[in-house]
Amino acid sequence: MAETEARFDYVIVGAGSAGCVLANRLSEDPNVTVAVLEAGGKNNSLLVKMPAGVGQLIANKGVSNWGFETTPQKHLDNRILYQPRGRGWGGSSAINGMIYIRGHARDYDQWRQMGLNGWGYADVLPYFKRAQHHDDGADAWNATGGPLCVSRGPPGDPIYKAFIQAGRQAGFPVTRDFNGYQQEGVGPYHLTIRDGERCSAALSYLAPVIDRPNLKVITDAHAGRVIIENKKAIGVEFSAGPGKPVQRVLAGREVILSGGAFQSPQLLLLSGIGPADELRKLDIPVVHDAPDVGRNLQDHLDVCIIYEMTKPLSMYSKTKGLKQPMIGLQYMFFKQGAGRTNHLHAGAFLKTRGELDRPDIQLHLVNAVMRDHARIKPDRDGFTVHACQLRPESRGTVKLASRNPFDAPLIDPNYLASEVDRRTMRDSVRVVRDICSQDALKLHRGPEMAPGAEVRTDAEIDAWIRGNAETIYHPVGTVRMGADDKAPVDEQLRVRGLDGLRVIDASVMPTLIGGNTNAPTIMIAEKLADLMRGKPALPRQDAPIAEDERAAVA
Ligand SMILES: Cc1cc2nc3c(=O)[nH]c(=O)nc-3n(C[C@H](O)[C@H](O)[C@H](O)COP(=O)(O)OP(=O)(O)OC[C@H]3O[C@@H](n4cnc5c(N)ncnc54)[C@H](O)[C@@H]3O)c2cc1C
Repeated sequence: MAETEARFDYVIVGAGSAGCVLANRLSEDPNVTVAVLEAGGKNNSLLVKMPAGVGQLIANKGVSNWGFETTPQKHLDNRILYQPRGRGWGGSSAINGMIYIRGHARDYDQWRQMGLNGWGYADVLPYFKRAQHHDDGADAWNATGGPLCVSRGPPGDPIYKAFIQAGRQAGFPVTRDFNGYQQEGVGPYHLTIRDGERCSAALSYLAPVIDRPNLKVITDAHAGRVIIENKKAIGVEFSAGPGKPVQRVLAGREVILSGGAFQSPQLLLLSGIGPADELRKLDIPVVHDAPDVGRNLQDHLDVCIIYEMTKPLSMYSKTKGLKQPMIGLQYMFFKQGAGRTNHLHAGAFLKTRGELDRPDIQLHLVNAVMRDHARIKPDRDGFTVHACQLRPESRGTVKLASRNPFDAPLIDPNYLASEVDRRTMRDSVRVVRDICSQDALKLHRGPEMAPGAEVRTDAEIDAWIRGNAETIYHPVGTVRMGADDKAPVDEQLRVRGLDGLRVIDASVMPTLIGGNTNAPTIMIAEKLADLMRGKPALPRQDAPIAEDERAAVA
């Protein structure tokens, strides 16, 4: 039974990438009151602040990381995969890799073509720009003055330059800005790092406005149910943990779920909004039969192609023995040294087949031997090329394990259910091997550790992928926005069939965009904040993109 009640105009569940943007933008109006419920804490540890802390944050389930797992994956030898997710201020932006990518322009034009008015590239570009402050200055694609700081990494280790040269030698274009004129190519990543500090959504959007009298952020507040009366969301029940008192917070205007792609559908289901038959099986009263809540899960599956390194230049040698604590101390006291960056400075967006209108794979180069999300510590020098498929056909689900809000949801991404997905992943291994065999990497490259020289045929590569592929952390689509009646939310992200309830986070993306998902989630929240405040949409802005890539856009 609920013990206490407070009332605000808006109640936001989740202080992650989307939730922080909404908290900031909605509370800009001093006449409006906003509450944010966040299950985690303030995330003010050194590891969160220091970009080089990323490996430990991802590897360790704990205060900043929910550390979920998938159900056994049928097409991956029934393996259970690790699924880190951010917890606390900043959500996943507090533990993510800090790669700043928007996806391909055509991804958004495709949303518009699906009937989602206002979501084409020209519609969303102004919101990407409003969010951004790029250290390089403004151009047709980038802006200055926004809260989210984007910078280029330092030149970094020689491996990054060598990799880009190797890509060129393999016949791929070089791209200086994957968010600019041409996504396709090999090039440097731009990073959400501000002056050597992780620029999470909390640092950029929440911390600067935390003293506003009309904004209240409640930490250790795990939402368990949306309170609905007469088909209208009127508040949220939450508590600090299992067995702790349940409290209620009421929303005069709207409840907004920003719990992310696993937990927003979970909360809808717990609130009786979802497939009626599934809810009945768990004795959850059906408030609204919405069969597609929790469906349409898409994620980027990834493999790590690993090479030994001929010289002691990788993170292994750089952090050996006492060097790692020294890096931490140097950063803590002087904000200098190797702690200032994420050590993820180069990558690629490539096509596995010439006839494609957009790159279908993405590469991330890490100057370290990366195994099992860094949970297996490197024992030698080496480098890893992550390869993921950008637009999988496979679709999975998020379901309830029980009606207990503290039980993790059942996450089934159903990876590699489609032949196209299996072929693309296989091709991605061959593309990486092609790049890594070029002369530019000769000085650095030792023997291939994974998959290993003996893995050559299609069948051998497929078997290796089944036994080793993992997520690269971009789940979306579980509360998809759609123009059709079955879509759980409409193009204004209102939950269909109910009043006063929106979902605003990565779960609303109808299709996975071609790239990392933090900046797109922030863009979505920026755009919705305008809409909710009754402001006109920012004027559409087109920016040129490479003609061959645009040819297929209507
Ligand atoms: C390890 C990792 C690495 C990544 N690397 C990159 C990268 O380099 N670049 C990039 O662009 N993207 C990256 N991503 C993806 C990107 O960070 C996410 O897509 C994005 O942050 C999602 O934002 P969101 O608002 O949907 O959810 P989140 O940011 O995950 O926020 C959800 C918030 O809701 C809270 N919450 C959940 N349920 C409840 C509840 N019941 N009650 C109260 N609070 C609740 C959570 O604690 C969390 O704070 C990465 C993600 C991860 C996990």
